[in-house]
Amino acid sequence: MEENFERVSDCLHSPETLHALRETGENFKDRIKGMIAGNIIGDMLGLTQMSGEGMLSPVRPVRLTGKYQKDITGGGVYGLAAGSWTDDTSMLIALGESLAEKGKADPENERRHYLKWFIEGAYTPSGEAFDIGRTTRQALTTGSAPSDRESNGNGALMRSSILTAWYINSTDKELIDASGLSCSVTHAHPIAKFTNVIYNLLLKKLITGFEPEQSIMALRDEYEGLMDDLKDIFLEPEVYQTTSYCVTTLETAIWLNMESSSFEETLLKAVNMGGDADTIGAVTGAVAGAIYGYAAIPERWIRHAEQVMKKYEGLKIFL
Ligand SMILES: [Mg+2]
Repeated sequence: MEENFERVSDCLHSPETLHALRETGENFKDRIKGMIAGNIIGDMLGLTQMSGEGMLSPVRPVRLTGKYQKDITGGGVYGLAAGSWTDDTSMLIALGESLAEKGKADPENERRHYLKWFIEGAYTPSGEAFDIGRTTRQALTTGSAPSDRESNGNGALMRSSILTAWYINSTDKELIDASGLSCSVTHAHPIAKFTNVIYNLLLKKLITGFEPEQSIMALRDEYEGLMDDLKDIFLEPEVYQTTSYCVTTLETAIWLNMESSSFEETLLKAVNMGGDADTIGAVTGAVAGAIYGYAAIPERWIRHAEQVMKKYEGLKIFL
């Protein structure tokens, strides 16, 4: 036995092993950075077409043909400048700041940061909070997150990717607990919490190098039977739903990634279907970033995300 330990230790210190470990670490870092940048870029691209009918048909597989949006151009219902962002990125920043402050998911502290955004306009491009979801607004106004079936929007999904970054070296159980707890600050129904958990676990699998299909199938085996409502996440849809329901938002993010083969292709499809384009873009972008990594994101988009990431400590640490 002792001999074996010696050999393992020799092996661990060999130049080849050290090189391989460094490479794994670099890949992890690139995919974590890509996931956070993807979350931001999806929001920045999607805000242009949010609440609209969209320029691409949501029928699978989505085809990038005809006229469709390719760049971060701003505009949309709020008439924003290019590179502006909405609640998705503001809440991601707020959660990032809280995690950096506490080193773990802390519902009370997260709530404080969301209130800073909601009341004082912190973490926004213009100093004013806007585009606040109904359930989030109710949770922050009353101090208690709604837990009825109608309160299962994608308000937690839009910000939660960064939890996977913080818990990447923790056990799955720790990530599950953190994801559920963090979600329940604004969304307390089990559908929202389980969807958030599945999302965080999926991102972890992708960042640690599992193939998308393998990751989804593993999660399907474990979570499909938990609640009937979750089944849709794992079913290939015929038509993508572009509403703000958390289950179909994650379903769209997953299956758009499955039918596409680059970060750019996936994101362009997500945001050009209209509807809740900013949040569907943000969630799809986080998944795509975790798959392809930061280095695979087009330069014309990355510079916008970098500006935001540099500005806030909670995001800067992942740059
Ligand atoms: Mg938004």
